[in-house]
Amino acid sequence: MITCVRGTRDILPDEIHLWHLVERESAAIFDRYGFEELRLPIFEVTELFARGIGDTTDIVEKEMYTFTDRNDQSLTLRPEGTASLVRAYIQHQLYKDGGTRKLYYAGPMFRYERPQKGRYRQFYQIGAEVLGPDSPGVEAEVIDMLMLLMDRLGIGDTRLWINSIGCPACRPAFLAVLQEREQAAAGRLCADCVRRIAANPLRVLDCKNPDCQDTINSLPSILDYLCAPCRSHHERLKKHLGLLGIAYHENPRMVRGLDYYVKTTFEITSGALGAQNSLLGGGRYDGLVEQLGGPPTHGFGFALGLDRFVLALPEAVRAGSRPVPDVHLAPLGETAQELAQVVAARLRRAGFAVSQDFQDRSLKSHLRHANRLGVPRVVIIGDAEAEAGQAALKSLITGDQILVPLTELEAVLRQQPAEKE
Ligand code: AMP
Repeated sequence: MITCVRGTRDILPDEIHLWHLVERESAAIFDRYGFEELRLPIFEVTELFARGIGDTTDIVEKEMYTFTDRNDQSLTLRPEGTASLVRAYIQHQLYKDGGTRKLYYAGPMFRYERPQKGRYRQFYQIGAEVLGPDSPGVEAEVIDMLMLLMDRLGIGDTRLWINSIGCPACRPAFLAVLQEREQAAAGRLCADCVRRIAANPLRVLDCKNPDCQDTINSLPSILDYLCAPCRSHHERLKKHLGLLGIAYHENPRMVRGLDYYVKTTFEITSGALGAQNSLLGGGRYDGLVEQLGGPPTHGFGFALGLDRFVLALPEAVRAGSRPVPDVHLAPLGETAQELAQVVAARLRRAGFAVSQDFQDRSLKSHLRHANRLGVPRVVIIGDAEAEAGQAALKSLITGDQILVPLTELEAVLRQQPAEKE
């Protein structure tokens, strides 16, 4: 038997309606905030990610699915969406009209990570980016949008973490101090940390190795080294969040795994998830557009993990989101089968979701089947009823049954909208 590759998975019909729910709600909420969708390719030239995400990040160093195509071009399955979106923004000069562009994307991402619950090698992200303004108000607006989305989906027990990782003006001084302190503590850090001290000292703060935590917690905090503009930006973000009534926690260790961030980084975690508790993350990336060959442009955005959103959906939402047909057709006999097919086609054109299988079932089996689907109403057509152009309409909720002329079936179904179970 050939099975799917480790770290990838099939999303089966049992679960897909949860994905549709998150996708639908995200699109509807993002639309309310003025975001437009962009569809991006799944692979790009490798250089885009090496330059965009940063050579010394985990993603670029060891997690990318990179291959050469038949033309000897190095390509990479996208490990994230921001670099691609910015590439498209520059390529199509989406900055031409001036002002703010609010864009979002959705789709699979690929990282060679160790698979576990909530962490896959092919996973799905929905991300949104605001290109143009520098204001902390934009950041609060995006966070507010995410709060509304999580609220709509019933995702509770979440925490918003915010940080500022400074800018090219203040970060170098902090990095110098940090590097020195990390070197002094190298004996108590893991091999990965030690390797990063020279190449990317900020990344050490991100290490998840339990043995490193005490040492890392004793390192200096970036918040003590911010320049005046970064400090003011950070304070204003907190003020805006306060105005919106959004609770947050500051976490000076949260640097995120991508090199393009400046000033604000943020993350939302969920208590409903296990070890992989990060629902989404993002931040400001003011230099990225320019770095990838575009005009100087401020940027702020996030990516949410669709797999994890689905995992964090509460039971009530899970149970309520399965699509249920409006009506089940139960033809008894061959003539009735034929008639039922025509009736089903007509009802479907009128907008009803109709379940009809072509198995020769008894009435009892039809009712059992309809109950299993949770269908509220069954249209029973026996051969005699078929002759008379009638059907019995049975409510599985009340048990009531009435005889309806087939020509009036549509109108009667419309008049009596049955509550679904
Ligand atoms: P990142 O692109 O690393 O900032 O991650 C943003 C979000 O994507 C995370 O908060 C997760 O929800 C999700 N995510 C990242 N990596 C994975 C993965 N390997 N499997 C599932 N979800 C992921």
